[in-house]
Amino acid sequence: MSDIINILPDSVANQIAAGEVVDRPASAVKELLENAMDAGASDIQLIVKDAGRTLIQVVDNGCGMSDSDARLCFERHATSKIHKADDLFAIRTMGFRGEALASIAAVAQVELKSRQHGNEWGTQVVIEGSDVKEQSPCSCSVGTSIAVKNLFFNIPARRNFLKKDSIELSHIEEVFKRIALANYNVAFSFHHNGRLLYELRAGNFAQRIAAIFGLNFKERLYPVDEQTEPVKIRGYVGKAEYAKKARGEQYLFVNNRYIKHFGLSAAIEKAYSELIPEHTYPAYFILLEVDPQRIDVNIHPTKTEVKFIDEQVIFAILRAATKKALGQFSLANEIEFNPSTEIDFTPASQGHIPEAPKVSFNPSYNPFRTSGSPTGSNPRSREVYDNFFLPQEPADEPSAAPATSLPIADEAPSSPVNAVAPINYLNRYIITSLKSGIVIIDQQRAHERILYERLMQRRSAARPDAQQLLFPVNCNFNAADSEILSELLPDLRQLGFVIEPLGHNTFVVTAAPVEIHDSDLQNLLEQIVNEHKNNMMQRFSDRDKSICLSLAHQMAVRSGKALKPEEMQHLIADLFSCQAPDVSPSGKRIMLILNEQDLSEKFK
Ligand code: ADP
Ligand code: MG
Repeated sequence: MSDIINILPDSVANQIAAGEVVDRPASAVKELLENAMDAGASDIQLIVKDAGRTLIQVVDNGCGMSDSDARLCFERHATSKIHKADDLFAIRTMGFRGEALASIAAVAQVELKSRQHGNEWGTQVVIEGSDVKEQSPCSCSVGTSIAVKNLFFNIPARRNFLKKDSIELSHIEEVFKRIALANYNVAFSFHHNGRLLYELRAGNFAQRIAAIFGLNFKERLYPVDEQTEPVKIRGYVGKAEYAKKARGEQYLFVNNRYIKHFGLSAAIEKAYSELIPEHTYPAYFILLEVDPQRIDVNIHPTKTEVKFIDEQVIFAILRAATKKALGQFSLANEIEFNPSTEIDFTPASQGHIPEAPKVSFNPSYNPFRTSGSPTGSNPRSREVYDNFFLPQEPADEPSAAPATSLPIADEAPSSPVNAVAPINYLNRYIITSLKSGIVIIDQQRAHERILYERLMQRRSAARPDAQQLLFPVNCNFNAADSEILSELLPDLRQLGFVIEPLGHNTFVVTAAPVEIHDSDLQNLLEQIVNEHKNNMMQRFSDRDKSICLSLAHQMAVRSGKALKPEEMQHLIADLFSCQAPDVSPSGKRIMLILNEQDLSEKFK
């Protein structure tokens, strides 16, 4: 049999690798801005057209490149930032993999101009889909300008996959903010379609935050400053009274690199416990400085996660520093006298098996089961419920009693909640009777309301009520969606999902809220991500509310599903223990009541 293996040409290999590094315009922006930072620039301009589809250009006044480096920088694994494997463990630059420019040049038309200090001429390189079209001397200022045109021009599938401009632009803006915050001593400007969006002068951290967010410092933030051996912390935390319902301005940086770190964010938020209502989130802008040898940033080129060797200690110090800033405790109290609060500093001994998170399992769960009698927390719904279902004395309102009451009213004495056996009309509406009329309930909307309120309640539960899945389910997403899903994991965890990232945009779901039984989890999570994206664009502020809304919508029993009499009974009882039984969470009417007058008018 003949040989079938061949080595891929560089252009193809680069294009494949590009999928990892450049998944949307914002990731190209990130790479170019980081390169400008690494080049020691003090002034950086970002120019974008059509949310990065047509043009992304970064102009810096950094060290520039020699003629041969200007050509070499587009090769894969071409980097000036590390030389040997050991360097990987003490990274001080933003880049180090030497893949960004090679990847960008594989999927765009790139024009680079660069001049080093002391040289009269600069050099210009034009490269398109990894093909060098031209290299020639040129006149340009000291520093580097890289213009990336028509991103993904040679990968139509990826280009089509880009979201609408407003979404792509908001991702670019977020990348820009993160880099500009971390590098407050560098001047930045950002133009989009000829409009100046940001002009940031070099200054201190506080000035940079104010320039970007327009926050009034004295009013809204407290300074944090804690210099310890394992970590140096400075920055600002929001005052408790300015906590918001959505996680908005939360920025954490380590050695000038923006990071996402569930544990450290939790450390800050924990310092606020009892100061702010549940499910509100403080703003914070925290700069951490850690010995580069004690962190690992080499996880994924586009990811913002890092690993800390001293994670637990840093967690404790960060939490204590935040508390101190909020005027709650002195750091000495927290660390010297109460070192073991919630944190176990002792390293795990060899052979020690960490305890698995506890997940409760309720095998007899019935989604329609009423959680008891109506709570009565909402006086109005209590009243309506009583009116509907408590046995009525005929003597109460003899004149209002219809001459011929529905016979079934007397035939269901065993039901604890309902005097009338409900009817499932068209498998869509539940019809039942009440003293003063007939009620018609939209089954799907009613169930949405019930689920929504249960999920909203769960947000404030100390321990989410999760149901372990018999078989863990793997779900796969595109890169952009997997990024969004990662962001949503803390909210989903609170609602009862246990989801872990497995890498390569795959996640495993091991537990889910008890209300979810045989739902298609992949589809469910996709819908949540999609709805979240839409809500984000509409600046829908309360993000976990919107997650509960989309979950309730997807989990609710559909119109067209036949319900058994007991299921209808439970649904009705649960509906009337809701805070707002009349309207669905998305604001639609749940029920229609026909009273005697309505009926006699119809019969005229
Ligand atoms: P990395 O940043 O990981 O080294 P890149 O592909 O982003 O890889 O860049 C390759 C090399 O090109 C860098 O190591 C650097 O030497 C050079 N380079 C890239 N951008 C600039 C710039 N704006 N100014 C000076 N040199 C640059
Ligand atoms: Mg780089």
